[in-house]
Amino acid sequence: MTSINPDNYKLSDKTANLTAHEIFPFSETAQPETREFLQKVIDILLDYVNACNDRNEKILDFHHPEEMKKLLDLEISENPAPLQQLIVDCATTLKYQVKTGHPHFFNQLSCGLDIVSMAGEWLTATANTNMFTYEIAPVFILMENVVLSKMRQIIGYDGGDSILAPGGSISNLYAFLAARHKMFPGYKEHGPRGLPGDLCMFTSDQCHYSVKSCSSVCGLGTENCVMVPSDESGKMIPSELERLILERKARGQIPFFVNATAGTTVLGAFDPLHEIADICQKYNCWFHVDAAWGGGLLLSKKYRNPRMSGIERSDSVTWNPHKLMGALLQCSSIHFKEDTQQDVTCQMKLPTVALTVKKENERERKLKNKIEIFFQGLLLSCNQMSAEYLFMTDKLYDIGYDTGDKVIQCGRHNDIFKLWLQWRAEGDAGFEARMDRLMELTAYEVKRIKEQSDKFYLIMEPECVNVSFWYIPRRLRGSPHTPAKVVELAKICPIIKARMMQSGTLMVGYQPDDRRPNFFRSIISSAAVTEKDVDFMLNEIDRLGQDL
Ligand SMILES: *Cc1c(COP(=O)(O)O)cnc(C)c1O
Repeated sequence: MTSINPDNYKLSDKTANLTAHEIFPFSETAQPETREFLQKVIDILLDYVNACNDRNEKILDFHHPEEMKKLLDLEISENPAPLQQLIVDCATTLKYQVKTGHPHFFNQLSCGLDIVSMAGEWLTATANTNMFTYEIAPVFILMENVVLSKMRQIIGYDGGDSILAPGGSISNLYAFLAARHKMFPGYKEHGPRGLPGDLCMFTSDQCHYSVKSCSSVCGLGTENCVMVPSDESGKMIPSELERLILERKARGQIPFFVNATAGTTVLGAFDPLHEIADICQKYNCWFHVDAAWGGGLLLSKKYRNPRMSGIERSDSVTWNPHKLMGALLQCSSIHFKEDTQQDVTCQMKLPTVALTVKKENERERKLKNKIEIFFQGLLLSCNQMSAEYLFMTDKLYDIGYDTGDKVIQCGRHNDIFKLWLQWRAEGDAGFEARMDRLMELTAYEVKRIKEQSDKFYLIMEPECVNVSFWYIPRRLRGSPHTPAKVVELAKICPIIKARMMQSGTLMVGYQPDDRRPNFFRSIISSAAVTEKDVDFMLNEIDRLGQDL
């Protein structure tokens, strides 16, 4: 057993009673004590890494919040705590943390603890820099350029622009903002009055809720985020999309944005991208693909098509390396097809119009916008506020490398180093093998579920690593699969989940969807998982649910 025991980490008598003000950076001479303190923290981290990779370890030591409060001492007091106390605090924190890197953790789209990516995150924390300018993060900014342009090539964009954002939800928001700016440039300055009418957007009823949230956050209102019905397997029905676009147009609204999901959060379904792209072209809508979840499969020749065929026709793509690719949290990217070199018509009109448009009607504003986007790129034109204390235009170096004014944040966390380091370690081939392995393990799980069809009911053949199923307890075995039986199976999910957490041996998620009540959805996105862990999952659910 490798459990973290907070009493196991003793500093020397000399260091134990020091306070933070007696080591670096306060004391210039405290190099040995500072090092001893940090070394001890690292011991705890390494023990935790061992525990995460030990199948005999529990995933969690569950306590209800009130009970947990009693087990922890979280108060901030008047006086400084000694270093030994801080060490105990670090160990205690990890003692009660859910081990999301444990091979029996199948609960979330981000599972696993990639060692190289983690090493990258440690370095990032130590470098402690902000990503807004080349001035203060030169190496990281160049890495960002290299990795993001590689990702755009993999998507199938020629050129383009990208940014790392704090999560897929924010990446989707960036897509929305860029789309609106490109099509209705007056909004940036004039707000809703700069719009020619009521905008509306479209997404499937299986989409991630962040898409609907864009519509609320950006002033459309959720009723103007139109939910397009999906088929049995969770894919958007293109004919329904077209019907709803026409319906909204008939009401006088302006359809401008369509979100397709490549890997839905619950079922792992892929919307038909080519058909949706055709409709976007026909009705002049921005075509965004939310591949936050499924994006990793772009790295696999075997699984990329037909799932994501047509993704290269999109205007923007959200892709979260912190999901299938196993980069540490957080790592999400948003990619745009449009960049500064693509719009040739704009270049031709340039000499006659110049940048000084005086009387701003909508047509001229659009032209000015085109020119601005041509010179600056879509992201910068959309989000730029030109803060003079950060983004001076008379700097020593090429300010094209300053990313800070492309985003709606000011500072940006360094999410690139851990991904860059991990990609170096894997190579393209390593990542491809990793994706193929996750899919192979998913196929194994499906096979095992089918082989035990008395105990498990597979809801659908998965397209991604999401496997949706019910557990059938003894008393319900052998009877026909009727709606009344489904109601019973659904009731069992929260009971088994509670038992999983109390026993600490397994974590698998459950949820209802539009078509069915509660069902289990396991996720295999951790590189630690093997066939024996998949068998453990199914056997453990059976063990916990025997008497239900
Ligand atoms: C997870 C997910 C998101 C949101 O990503 P966060 O990084 O959690 O904000 C968006 N879309 C899809 C399809 C997702 O699965």
